[in-house]
Amino acid sequence: MLTVNAYAATSATEPLVRTTIERRDVGPNDVLIEIRYAGICHSDIHTVRGDWGPQHYPLAPGHEIAGVVTEVGSEVTRHRVGDRVGVGCMVNSCRECEYCRRGEEQYCREGNVQTYGAVDRDGTITQGGYTTHVVVNEDFAVRIPDALSLDAAAPLLCAGITTYSPLRHWNAGPGKKVAVVGLGGLGHMAVKFAHALGAEVTVLSQSLKKREDGLRLGADDYRATSDPETFERLADSFDLIINTVSAGIDISAYLGLLKVDGALVNVGAPAEPLPVNVFSLLLKRRTFAGSAIGGIAETQEMLDFCGEHGIAPEIEVITADQINEAYERVLASDVRYRFVIDIATLN
Ligand SMILES: [Zn+2]
Ligand SMILES: [Zn+2]
Repeated sequence: MLTVNAYAATSATEPLVRTTIERRDVGPNDVLIEIRYAGICHSDIHTVRGDWGPQHYPLAPGHEIAGVVTEVGSEVTRHRVGDRVGVGCMVNSCRECEYCRRGEEQYCREGNVQTYGAVDRDGTITQGGYTTHVVVNEDFAVRIPDALSLDAAAPLLCAGITTYSPLRHWNAGPGKKVAVVGLGGLGHMAVKFAHALGAEVTVLSQSLKKREDGLRLGADDYRATSDPETFERLADSFDLIINTVSAGIDISAYLGLLKVDGALVNVGAPAEPLPVNVFSLLLKRRTFAGSAIGGIAETQEMLDFCGEHGIAPEIEVITADQINEAYERVLASDVRYRFVIDIATLN
């Protein structure tokens, strides 16, 4: 057992504090990663505050992990000491079901094991990336290309793959018109990816406040959804809409922006059910879908794509002691576009 420094929640209502947590011994198939940076995802806040169900405390969140391998188990073949690696939203799965076999471990029939706050297959509770070290099965660590800095690579492990996967699945590319709803942590990555994949990209945001940013990040067009004319002018225009907003929006209105056979894909997760007018689907054979992160192989593909195309999230690096303040700013949408914790400040 390894005792490591951490920044963790001790209850659903208290701020996170400096503490220590335990890591398991490095098993034959495990790697020990010295964490250098961890991104702050909105899910971290929901989870530690118990919004998505009761938790075991102390709980160190964080599923956007970038670091360096410092020890490998006796049977490890995928990674070596010194490798730059990342860990995303899951750290285990059954490996045997049809989804695991085809590399979609995120949809494992038995449920993937989430990086923090989940019961691992050995019965222990997982702890996330706001810590100096993590021990993880080698299959759930991915290589970070040399072209990417570790701080900017961290948010790719959740925000990156969450937007890359649906863009690939629904074939965003040349000749396709893609809209991205919301320009936050997820949305800004969706814009970068859709642009790099060759699609024509429109940002649909409440106001035009971040228009300059949106165009700089690669959007061809930027429209305010608070203007009702937007929905008239853009009716029947898009092949694909990626909705990154987790608040409830008028899904039927957005479906009206899709062409025949177009798809509206939710990657944001609203707590409440969303009503859908089925006519907005059936009259143009449209699809309303959802997508969760991506498999390990696809996460590697995404990182390699970022390395080749020079894609990285826009980040603000903070110290561990700024985490609670950063949470308030995330909740107020006051971040462009992802906070990343410098884990050296935990030592
Ligand atoms: Zn996340
Ligand atoms: Zn499985």
